Amino acid sequence: MELDTPLAVVSGIGPTFAKRLTRLNLFTVEDLLNHYPFRYENFSQIKNISMAKSGEESTFRGQIWSIKNSYTRFKKVITKAILNDGTASLEITWFNQPWLIKNIKTSDTIQISGKTERYHSKIAMIAPEWEKIEEGIDFQNIHTGRIVPVYPETYGIKSKWLRNKIIGLLRSKVAQIEDPLPEHIYNQLSLFEALQQIHFPDSFEKHAQALEKLSFDELFYIQLNNQKTKLEWRGKKILEPLNINPDTLLHFINNLPFELTSAQKKVIDEIIVDLKKNHPMNRLIQGDVGSGKTVVAAAVIYLLCQNKLRSVLMAPTEILAFQHFQTLTKLFTPYKIKVDIYTGSKKFTKNKNSTPDVIVGTHALLSKKISLDTVGLVIIDEQQRFGVEQRSLLRNKAKLPHFLTMTATPIPRTVALTLYGDLDLSIIDELPKGRKVVRTHFVPSNKRSAAYNFITQQVNQGQQVYIITPLIEESETQLSAKAVKVEYERLQKEVFPDLSLGILHGKMKSKEKEEVLGKFKNKEVDILVSTSVVEVGVDVPNATIMVVEGAERFGLAQLHQLRGRVGRGTAQSYTFLFTETENRQNISRVKNLEKIYDGLKLAELDLKIRGAGEVFGIKQSGSWDLKIASFSNLSLVERTKKAAEAVLKESSTLDKYPKLKRKLVNLDKKIMPD
Ligand code: ADP
Ligand code: MG
Repeated sequence: MELDTPLAVVSGIGPTFAKRLTRLNLFTVEDLLNHYPFRYENFSQIKNISMAKSGEESTFRGQIWSIKNSYTRFKKVITKAILNDGTASLEITWFNQPWLIKNIKTSDTIQISGKTERYHSKIAMIAPEWEKIEEGIDFQNIHTGRIVPVYPETYGIKSKWLRNKIIGLLRSKVAQIEDPLPEHIYNQLSLFEALQQIHFPDSFEKHAQALEKLSFDELFYIQLNNQKTKLEWRGKKILEPLNINPDTLLHFINNLPFELTSAQKKVIDEIIVDLKKNHPMNRLIQGDVGSGKTVVAAAVIYLLCQNKLRSVLMAPTEILAFQHFQTLTKLFTPYKIKVDIYTGSKKFTKNKNSTPDVIVGTHALLSKKISLDTVGLVIIDEQQRFGVEQRSLLRNKAKLPHFLTMTATPIPRTVALTLYGDLDLSIIDELPKGRKVVRTHFVPSNKRSAAYNFITQQVNQGQQVYIITPLIEESETQLSAKAVKVEYERLQKEVFPDLSLGILHGKMKSKEKEEVLGKFKNKEVDILVSTSVVEVGVDVPNATIMVVEGAERFGLAQLHQLRGRVGRGTAQSYTFLFTETENRQNISRVKNLEKIYDGLKLAELDLKIRGAGEVFGIKQSGSWDLKIASFSNLSLVERTKKAAEAVLKESSTLDKYPKLKRKLVNLDKKIMPD
């Protein structure tokens, strides 16, 4: 048995259980060892039954005086036993476990742990954890009489089962792996000790040490991987260093229909510094919705065109790709720069012989049919919507291009330092002039009709509205399409019979999407009822009201992004957060939007309240999900970053640390299976 042995062939597990374990994302021995408890029961105090009080977490050790099954009228099995420890007796009850009388016999010595209760004025215990104590047999002591781990479970896999298997692995040789981390980097606890103490802690103090060691490891390997990538990237020579002429760029910038904000100018300057170097740029632009990232991208594309180099811009949805296509076409037509589009349903509009200077598209660009050999710049918009694999696939399709990614998702500092450690970061921290604060109101169900009246009034004054339906699943499916249809019909019939409504969701054909968006832009549609696909991209300055149904199902940062769809024109804009929930915690979480208008602050809050995986509302191919470490631990993030830097400074290829090198290769395989 090795760490990478599949669970199906491990004795005592087998194919049936291995299949169930896949639901917990556990495939190998190592995965199971790294399946950490999410909480613990403190059963470490062994007490006398005579001293027991009701309502306490307790452990007793004694002899079974009797045990038998009885049946209720509804054919349910009740097992009752009497345990005596020499000081007193206690009644134990189990439900629906008829086989227990085969395992526990009269006069057996057992140890039980659980919460005591009062039953017919005597102390009793219902469904306690139990373990047999047999003469001559190694007493397990894993379910009772200690700090007992409780694991994330799934159908047919309970914590008791997991404890038995994990202790088995820990007691075999396989867990006694050598720690790849050299001692001068971390010396408090070895990996093996940490694994033992995270699953079966001797004390809460030991547990805290194990938690720290395993968190250190998790963050350290991410840091090491990213910084090594960064070094390698820096070592690459760009094929054709660019010739940057500040005057032609100024010409482009001065011809824009607006003046750039100073934040936009600052970011363009940062990019120019990158472009002058002879290794490829690898930069992430973070800027709130509406901060004007597209035009920054356009300026960079323009610079590439001046060097006769082509660019590619990939967006996560067809709607957004199409909008970029239109924006860039408009901006570039005076300069004779040719723009074209390539998505799932639109394969180049121009004839094949005229090579476009700029290709805008969706992930359809990743297709083998498209050659990106001669591309000098790859831009990925709303990069968090793509998986790690898709991003690197596009980057690798082109030969050593400059690489620019953009996101509206505010990235908390610790996350940026860790997950984006391989990127240089530029922040557009300023909105174009004249934008008004979007007034935001939380609307409980009893205020709903008042809000609908207000909306009707505003529409009659010429304003337009988005209504976003609740997030049902992680990605757009038939189910969300159906839900948005039902809501659309209800609104049209019962709430806004005299207004013109449109519908938009991810399952529509792209032609249908364009049609309804076209109508919305031309004001033929007053209210656009949509799933959260409009979250990215759509830019309609006349829309001034954003309604989000089921607001509690979204992350705060995501609600903030939806809010950014309005407030683009000069009129006062509003966001209404509708909810049916009565849950106080949910309500106060959502109400933060009424007070906080800073995307980064909201993201930090999300991180605290719901954890990293939830920050986007939609789970990202695992990339934000840490197993054990927490992004709120700034000092550990900084420590691991320094440690990784120190190791790479000593040996940039890691040749001095073969074990670390092997560990990274294995991690890579995990992130990108083929
Ligand atoms: P995002 O950063 O969300 O991608 P966009 O690039 O879509 O934002 O820009 C939002 C809107 O703001 C667009 O209509 C764009 O033309 C406009 N815009 C961008 N920069 C400026 C600016 N400096 N002044 C005024 N309007 C701007
Ligand atoms: Mg954008």
